[in-house]
Amino acid sequence: MALTDDIRACTLCADRFAATETGHSPRPVVWFKPGARILVAGQAPGARVHESGRPFTDPSGDRLRHWLGMDEATFYDRDKLAIVPMAFCFPGYDAKGSDRPPPKVCAATWRDAVMAHVGDVPLVLLIGRYAQSWHLGSRMSVRDTVAAWRDFAPRAFPLPHPSWRNTAWLKKNPWFEDEVLPVLRARVKEVLA
Ligand code: SF4
Repeated sequence: MALTDDIRACTLCADRFAATETGHSPRPVVWFKPGARILVAGQAPGARVHESGRPFTDPSGDRLRHWLGMDEATFYDRDKLAIVPMAFCFPGYDAKGSDRPPPKVCAATWRDAVMAHVGDVPLVLLIGRYAQSWHLGSRMSVRDTVAAWRDFAPRAFPLPHPSWRNTAWLKKNPWFEDEVLPVLRARVKEVLA
């Protein structure tokens, strides 16, 4: 069976998800092919993506596409973008109503094989601390890692999560939109040309 089929059939977190408030079953959202030009290393699907089965079909996706200067057709072209979160399934909500962290078992089980399958990608977008920790070994806060973006560009760009929950963060850190996004958009154009 192909790797993508193996992941789609994965139920490793079934008990964990059944014990959450939503009591949902695993539904891995798998969206990658070898040879993609951009890797989007995100956190984990949210509830809306759990329903749609397509990554970033939510306001976070709208904001991310805006950040990249990219239309939906390009974003969902698997020859161009591989979208590989730190966990392939919606993890459920915590007591505060926020999404739970991606289960570590997912990256431990699948991530090396997926990275080998996708191959060398010229642009890697690292969204949030779990992806930044795995791919960069960063132990800094998301803010400090994103602020150090010049250390990783042009191959990688650490980004905050594009969730509405980070709207205040974006207001507090205007340098992100003023300095990082123009360079990121230019790099996106370059690798897709
Ligand atoms: S989150 Fe990952 S490890 Fe857990 S059930 Fe989904 S695919 Fe499997």
